[in-house]
Amino acid sequence: MKSGKCPKCGSANVRCKPGAGKIGHHGRIPSGGGFDVGMPVNRYVCAECGFVETYVDDEKARSQVAKKWPLALRAPREG
Ligand SMILES: [Zn+2]
Repeated sequence: MKSGKCPKCGSANVRCKPGAGKIGHHGRIPSGGGFDVGMPVNRYVCAECGFVETYVDDEKARSQVAKKWPLALRAPREG
């Protein structure tokens, strides 16, 4: 998606507005993931099919996530 080509429909009509979003600001996600003012994200939107990808491009923000968020990789079921 960052290359400018949509992985879903193959269109090159992919748009990005840097700094257009934050996660965790104003309680959109409870606790804000440990970020006081929200985690900055960049969203890529395919103007053809509507597919959206969201990236945390800020290196400091990613290191915060690595420190504070649990790993997603877990056993499917416990017990
Ligand atoms: Zn698309």
